[in-house]
Amino acid sequence: SLFAESPLLHGLNAEQLAAVTLPPEPALILAGAGSGKTRVLTTRIAWLLQTGQVTPGGLLAVTFTNKAAKEMLTRLSALLPLNVRGMWIGTFHGLCHRLLRAHWKLASLPQTFQILDMQDQLSAIKRLCKQHQIDEERYPPKQLQWFIAGCKEDGLRAHQMSPRDEDQRRKIDFYQLYEEQCQREGVVDFGELMLRCYELLRDQDAVREHYQRRFRHILVDEFQDTNKLQYAWLKLLAGHDENGRFVPAGNAVLAVGDDDQSIYAFRGARVGNMADFVREFEVRRQIKLEQNYRSHGNILEAANQLIEHNSGRLGKNLRTEQGAGEPIRVYEAASDFAEADWLIDEIRSLLAEGWSRQEIALLYRSNAQSRVIETALFRAGLPYRVYGGLRFFERAEVKHALAYLRLLDNPNDDTSLLRVVNFPPRGIGARSVEQLQDAARALGCSLHDAASSLGGAAGTKLSAFVAKIDVLREQTEGRSLREIIELVLQHSGLLEHYRADRDGADRVENLEELVNAAESFVLQEGFGRDAVALPLDETAPAGPGLTQSPASQGLDPDADGFEAFAAASVQVAAGIQSDSGETLSPLAAFLTHAALESGDNQAQAGQDAIQLMTVHAAKGLEFDAVFITGLEEGLFPHENSQSDRDGLEEERRLMYVAITRARKRLYLSHAQTRMLHGQTRYNLRSRFLDELPEPCLKWISPKQGGWGSGLGRGGSGPGTVQPAWGRSGLGDPGSGRGGKDAAYSGAGSVPAQKAAPAHGIRAGMQVFHNKFGEGKVLTVEGQGDDARAQVNFARHGSKWLALAIAKLTPV
Ligand code: ATP
Ligand code: MG
Repeated sequence: SLFAESPLLHGLNAEQLAAVTLPPEPALILAGAGSGKTRVLTTRIAWLLQTGQVTPGGLLAVTFTNKAAKEMLTRLSALLPLNVRGMWIGTFHGLCHRLLRAHWKLASLPQTFQILDMQDQLSAIKRLCKQHQIDEERYPPKQLQWFIAGCKEDGLRAHQMSPRDEDQRRKIDFYQLYEEQCQREGVVDFGELMLRCYELLRDQDAVREHYQRRFRHILVDEFQDTNKLQYAWLKLLAGHDENGRFVPAGNAVLAVGDDDQSIYAFRGARVGNMADFVREFEVRRQIKLEQNYRSHGNILEAANQLIEHNSGRLGKNLRTEQGAGEPIRVYEAASDFAEADWLIDEIRSLLAEGWSRQEIALLYRSNAQSRVIETALFRAGLPYRVYGGLRFFERAEVKHALAYLRLLDNPNDDTSLLRVVNFPPRGIGARSVEQLQDAARALGCSLHDAASSLGGAAGTKLSAFVAKIDVLREQTEGRSLREIIELVLQHSGLLEHYRADRDGADRVENLEELVNAAESFVLQEGFGRDAVALPLDETAPAGPGLTQSPASQGLDPDADGFEAFAAASVQVAAGIQSDSGETLSPLAAFLTHAALESGDNQAQAGQDAIQLMTVHAAKGLEFDAVFITGLEEGLFPHENSQSDRDGLEEERRLMYVAITRARKRLYLSHAQTRMLHGQTRYNLRSRFLDELPEPCLKWISPKQGGWGSGLGRGGSGPGTVQPAWGRSGLGDPGSGRGGKDAAYSGAGSVPAQKAAPAHGIRAGMQVFHNKFGEGKVLTVEGQGDDARAQVNFARHGSKWLALAIAKLTPV
């Protein structure tokens, strides 16, 4: 075609080219990891813009993480001379938030609504439980939180649900109470962002029709992980229901995904959305991409073979033109500490070979696993960054500061008020707070507004607190974001409080970091001037739509002026009052950022650091070298998902995602013992290791003498087994690998020692272990509590066991 000559398209393969230049109609790209799906999606956006088929305001793209959205924007601005700031590219949550800000009134929200993150949501739930004397044993707050999130993901309000039984009725009642509390306080949780926005589009015909006309192109990455509500939301943007039947409105919806990477079923994601999409949008074009550009052959081969073990796949092939590359290195450590030590050794050699730190990723199944690794990295002086762990904005001191800031913006935010009403301590006890809550309930108002109604000493103190907030609000009027935060840190007493605390240095630093975060936020978002209308699309030509209502624009397909129009508070011809004044102050924008951002944006973001994250958080990303640690039964696959096939298959997809993050080098490791939740656990090697093709693997053994440092630390834990290999001067067994059942290649070659009998266990004995079954003792060493044995188990290979802990019975 005429457009095919654009330099943007250079280097694409034939299928990719076809996908990028698809005609404007619904289409699905179904393709495996690393085949260029995201690249196709980004290139298509650039190509549509460059060829003038759409204006920046006329398309909407959904990505899965903030990091992915940022990357897409960065890549777009590299491809085209374009101000990408006003573009509708973001996560479902981010885009919904933006729509709700623009139409807060129609969405029945206060203009200053705040976002409740998971932590705050939980404390709001706990508060409500207490208030209504709900038995927390029977209805744990966490469980209620999941229940509410689940209802919202299904698009259900309490009044739409009919309880199965008494138990469920109580949960639904609670859901209702919780909703009322949120509405009263002007706060919106993550699930609510999505549901409220869905309802906005569903119920407000003019709004829906406007955006349907406006977003002629809708592009969705990681489509396999959309849930029911997100899919319904997309349908509203791209069509309408007539007598219960969905009729596409002709928008070009491009869905991109990989069924093998669906890893959010536990949060309601539906792979079935793909089939529904094809049917309901009457998709005529499905494109497959089969060439993987990311990974070397061995890595790809391993991923392909692993995922073969799943059933009901849609079926895709992946090939690579790169060579086999290096084998995948597999390592068995004696303990989690030893695993961390080995990690450090390997990372040091990678760095010595010239690999860059940010191209090295350490992946784990559960957040709890990061602590040991972090400690080791920290001691080794290696800079690292944790994604999605305890985010900067979730640290207690930062949340305190944010609570003050939120109260400036929205005094009715009771959650924030409760967080800081007595922090720093100002003599307002639990009793006074209860009185305040009672008063607020009786008056039907916020805690802030109820303060003046209380008498006595409690009343005086509470009024003083409220007055302090109100004065602070006045003082900060018209100030820059930086000044506002500095004033709040000063006058709230937070800085002073932590400075006086002997252990508060870190916290003071974090508070100062908050000022930096705000500063870089202002720079990035271009809030340099006064408040800017957030959704204003600066890149769009000021067309005739600017001062007209969308309805009067008739069928104009690129009604770019709508937001400007909304900001100018012109009436919508359909008789709806537009929500005037959607100018978001820098403070409000920053608070939103703090609640929605996964902390990717912090000051150290640019720093060259090793990347730590859960496998879930790694989706869509790629790195030269990847370590997947903790490959043990019960950990990965996770114990919660081992019992049913669906759960196990989801774990396997997760493992597939993990493996396919690697470009050139992949390390897999597991530990024989691990401290988890305060207990030493003996874990079997993950079945996933056994599902990988042997020829692609290389089992490596510990470096000589590399154990010393690990033992110093790890040795204190009762479960840490001191491996003998280093000391016993074992030769280098790393060159060969003794088959899978020899857990590491040293098995059997350890010189038998004539150790004194300990716990009645001797070399040569047949023994039984609860978990590993029967085995033969190869060697015993150490005395008393230190005694350990190496046992070769018939089914599980050789293990080192601490005899003080492991129950071995002679058979
Ligand atoms: P995932 O399923 O993990 O999200 P993906 O299908 O989205 O993967 P991309 O991230 O888009 O894959 O691409 C993987 C890598 O391959 C990227 O580094 C990308 O730049 C590169 N790549 C994609 N297509 C080509 C191509 N035609 N030529 C060279 N490199 C390519
Ligand atoms: Mg991708």
